[in-house]
Amino acid sequence: MNNKLYGKLIFELSQPGSKGYSLPKNQFGDYTLPQEMRRTADANLPECDEMTVVRHYTNLSGNNFGVDNGFYPLGSCTMKYNPAINEETAALKAFAALHPLQPAETCQGALAVYYGLQKSLAALTGLSEFTLNPFAGAHGELTGLMIIRAYHESRGDKQRVKVIVPDSAHGTNPASAAVCGLEIVEVKSKKDGRVDVDDLKNLLDDTVAAMMMTNPNTLGLFETEIPEITRLVHECGGLMYYDGANLNPMLGACRPGDMGFDVMHINLHKTFSTPHGGGGPGSGPVGVRAGLEQFLPRPHVVKDGETYRIEKEAGSNTPIHVGAFFGNFGVIIKAYTYILTLGKENIKMVGPLATLNANYIKECLKDVYELPIDGLCKHEFVFDGLKDKSTGITTMDVAKRLLDYGYHAPTIYFPLLFHESMMIEPTESESKKTIDGFINVLRTIAQEAIEQPETVHGAPHHTPIGRVDDVLAAKNPILTYKD
Ligand SMILES: *Cc1c(COP(=O)(O)O)cnc(C)c1O
Repeated sequence: MNNKLYGKLIFELSQPGSKGYSLPKNQFGDYTLPQEMRRTADANLPECDEMTVVRHYTNLSGNNFGVDNGFYPLGSCTMKYNPAINEETAALKAFAALHPLQPAETCQGALAVYYGLQKSLAALTGLSEFTLNPFAGAHGELTGLMIIRAYHESRGDKQRVKVIVPDSAHGTNPASAAVCGLEIVEVKSKKDGRVDVDDLKNLLDDTVAAMMMTNPNTLGLFETEIPEITRLVHECGGLMYYDGANLNPMLGACRPGDMGFDVMHINLHKTFSTPHGGGGPGSGPVGVRAGLEQFLPRPHVVKDGETYRIEKEAGSNTPIHVGAFFGNFGVIIKAYTYILTLGKENIKMVGPLATLNANYIKECLKDVYELPIDGLCKHEFVFDGLKDKSTGITTMDVAKRLLDYGYHAPTIYFPLLFHESMMIEPTESESKKTIDGFINVLRTIAQEAIEQPETVHGAPHHTPIGRVDDVLAAKNPILTYKD
């Protein structure tokens, strides 16, 4: 085992008198802090030399698992390869050193990027106009619902307070509706995992503001009845909201705008490659169909002839303000770089390849893992644990054992429709060789579950930290150092 990984805390490495800095010579004379502002005891800071600090943090970073270290089959989260050129572009001084209040004529290049992405997203989704202001998918959902509410209010349609959300939806959907002050109504899924249109019919009346849909849905299934669903919801005066957090499978296959959706968000950090493990940074642009543009938040970038301009004020009936300034510009640059790097033709391969990779894994493993919903999936699919339930080995055990083999675990125990959910999404950016390696390991673990279940149950054995008590960790987190 790698000893290096068991590094001590920086406090334990502290040696009194060690220094990791050198300050320039004082040119300003002495200044004494007033007595009442001084500490009575020294701060408990570690004292380490420079090399100790460098090694400590470099070794710590080695304990992380990232998509640059290994395969990351994280369903519903699209952890795909993030090419380094994205980072290089975002770090260009001409972008990184901009001030958000800078006059438009001094940052035409940055505004061209911003405008270019607004337009690219519109073209990729078949919608009319996008705002890049929201900072994450959930923030995009909230913005989208506020747009929908503003639309209904502009028509004097104030009794529309309900949002219909499928039972398979990502948790942020009902949460965003609640934050927006709307009522959540759940629509059931059928046995095949898709929205139950008959159940939906019972929920439709003139209090419905919108229906939120994720497509392919959280089970990785294409919602085949969208034309009927959009017709029904529109007929009762509601709008259709598309959760496009995972747009991977759609790129090059079909467009939400063409399917009758009115408002959608995209997670740039998922579909358009920004590393987003550990909570950020994100960006959740929101797009609307023609006729709803005036409800988009400002600022918005527009083009007059060859000049880019920042539109700050919205039309008179737009009450929406989202966040500060222009959103997460770094993520916006990375997404635009990714789109331009792939180009118009290659970006059409994203959807088909993401779909092919997911189906390949599913078909290669469905004899040993329980596949509750058979048939073609899109970018992701769900197993309901191991097929052989007699071993007592759970999805949690399999996920932990995967870590021993150098793979990140998939999303587990979500969606809630099955007891032992294991949601796998390979993305389009992995090679067949990598995917075959992953399949082999999952087969090996299935074998181990029968032959040596205690090994699987006690996993992980080869990570810096073994199996943690996650309930205790959540209930009683120890977040500060105590000696
Ligand atoms: C990730 C995800 C979200 C939420 O996006 P955040 O950026 O994490 O707020 C919403 N819906 C779906 C389907 C997702 O996968």
